[in-house]
Amino acid sequence: MNEINEVLILGSIALDTIETKFGKKEDLLGGSATYATIGAGFYGSPIPIGIVGDDFPEKGDEIFNNFSSNLDNIEKKHGKTFSWGGKYHNNGDDRDTLFTDLGVFESFEPVLHSKNVKASWVFLANIHPSLQLSVLNQCKNNPTVITDTMNLWIDTTLQELKKIIKRTDILLINESELSLLTKNENILESSKQVLSMGPQKIVVKLGSKGARCISKNEDISVGVYPVKDVVDPTGAGDVFGGGFVSGLIDNLSTSESMLRGSALASFCIEEFGVSKLININKNDVEKRMESIK
Ligand code: AMP
Repeated sequence: MNEINEVLILGSIALDTIETKFGKKEDLLGGSATYATIGAGFYGSPIPIGIVGDDFPEKGDEIFNNFSSNLDNIEKKHGKTFSWGGKYHNNGDDRDTLFTDLGVFESFEPVLHSKNVKASWVFLANIHPSLQLSVLNQCKNNPTVITDTMNLWIDTTLQELKKIIKRTDILLINESELSLLTKNENILESSKQVLSMGPQKIVVKLGSKGARCISKNEDISVGVYPVKDVVDPTGAGDVFGGGFVSGLIDNLSTSESMLRGSALASFCIEEFGVSKLININKNDVEKRMESIK
């Protein structure tokens, strides 16, 4: 079977309404799959898996086309695109979800295109664990599995999430989700707990403090590029994840892959939505990677 050395990216494709201390914007292109595809798409051609409604803007199609040459697994269905509203606290990190409107996502049953079942990499970005499981079960090539999740699924669908974690090679998770999952606030101890659940590596996202990868033999930390005004932190973790996976596909070391993810995430937070990210190039990313080092 011919392998495809690209990454399938499952997640939400959304229209976001976001409020931060820098203002409020409506119907921004967002979603975990969107941000992750952009993060990975600077260096490769990721394969997003998701669904949009007939209100999805042309500009959104254009952006996906710029970051992927394989959009066979984006479904378009009559109805409304998934939409999410969030308001950030003044500290810039914490946020409240104001609304989640599933729209066409409610009946989403992803079916992988026959050529996409051979992908060697799968990034299960944040989405309901049952969808993550469904996509994983359709993969035929024993892919390397990178998984992200959120507190909602730890709180509401823990048993299904544990099934996914068991089949995950690298778990991406932020610090507060990690302590929620393990009931332990010590990063090293809780990471070891996660390693005993299945993954070979865990990457703990530490927000403005960077990220730390822990495995049996490694404990690697990377920092962040200092951004003066964090205008909108939405999607930073997904962009990090997309960039990180693209580094692994390019055979970069774990720490170089994390640096790539961190540099990309620093652009994400500088403007609302994806607007900064879609106006940078690889050269900009490399410069920030050097600067973080
Ligand atoms: P992050 O800032 O990394 O948590 O991800 C931001 C994206 O996640 C936003 O663009 C939202 O559209 C999307 N999102 C919010 N809630 C959910 C959910 N329950 N499932 C999937 N995606 C979501």
